[in-house]
Amino acid sequence: MSKVYNFSAGPSVFPKSVLEQAKEELLDWQGSGMSVMEMSHRGKHFSIIAEELESDLRSLMAVPDNYKVLFLQGGASAQFSLVPQNILNGKTKACYVQTGAWSEKAVSDAKNYCDVLVSASSEDSHYTTIPDESDWVIDPHAAYLHYTSNETIHGVEFQKAPDANGLTLISDMSSNILSRKIDVGQHGLIYAGTQKNMGPAGVTVVIVRDDLIGNASKTTPAVFDYAEQAKSQSMLNTPATYNWYLVGLVLKWLKAQGGVEAMEQLNIAKAAKLYQAIDQSSLYSNPVAAPYRSRMNVPFNLQDTSLDQQFLIAAEANGLFELRGHRLVGGMRASIYNAMPEAGVLTLIDFMAEFERTH
Ligand SMILES: *Cc1c(COP(=O)(O)O)cnc(C)c1O
Repeated sequence: MSKVYNFSAGPSVFPKSVLEQAKEELLDWQGSGMSVMEMSHRGKHFSIIAEELESDLRSLMAVPDNYKVLFLQGGASAQFSLVPQNILNGKTKACYVQTGAWSEKAVSDAKNYCDVLVSASSEDSHYTTIPDESDWVIDPHAAYLHYTSNETIHGVEFQKAPDANGLTLISDMSSNILSRKIDVGQHGLIYAGTQKNMGPAGVTVVIVRDDLIGNASKTTPAVFDYAEQAKSQSMLNTPATYNWYLVGLVLKWLKAQGGVEAMEQLNIAKAAKLYQAIDQSSLYSNPVAAPYRSRMNVPFNLQDTSLDQQFLIAAEANGLFELRGHRLVGGMRASIYNAMPEAGVLTLIDFMAEFERTH
């Protein structure tokens, strides 16, 4: 098989060496005589995997001791409902910043549980910007302020966590977790599906401050009650064991790359090169205001959209896969998560220049 680069928004590219290690260990995990898939989640082998998973994530993100780290199921989408069920704590209102399709969904699900105040929205700009923080409307009686740190579909990213004006700050970090340094302590809760930047689909990470849990609404299923799962080390139900293992391997790979700081520098360089190539061309353009452009998901349009199909076919012929934009916005999108090597971005840039030259 010739070399291919996968620009999928999620599930997405894996570090090659991690896949090789998983293959190596598939039938016999470290001399145990068993595949990780076959192990009891309460057995001595899997306990090691589970403990290292949590401690590696804690050290990579510098998670303070008064935070629980949970590994749940249901995806980030389930969290759209579970956050209000767990965190309202008897309050009836929550604030949401709406910066794209994912925060729209979070707003829509939260409305089943409380009054939602949309503190700010960039819908009018078709989600190509982030409203200035000084214009946000924040209700001091709300239980929390929710924002989506990276809008995967629109390619819009917060360059730093916003000021929650005294409210508990909550973030959906599904598509940029571990790609840049963030201050966990500034947040009450962070959640992320693993299939963008951390591993395969099937695990949802929830990092939550101790004092916020233990008051879930009465109708919250036990497996979705953060306090119950925290008490059971996320094993109230049988966890997605093999996926935990794979996420754990990705975290060890990330540590070996130099951790989040080193990865952030690489991500800055990769994104800068791609945006520069787009901005300098007369065929391609990116609609997002420069200060809010995502380092992870780079949408771009061809000036002549009748060339879209040809572009995608030619890209695949050159080993560049999954560049079609999300159906909501059309055009193209290159997702360049941690595991996308710089060589992949450079190959894409060369291909785009060649396509422009010949069309
Ligand atoms: C992918 C994504 C989701 C949805 O994740 P699921 O695992 O499919 O539920 C939610 N939020 C953001 C920002 C995403 O990128």
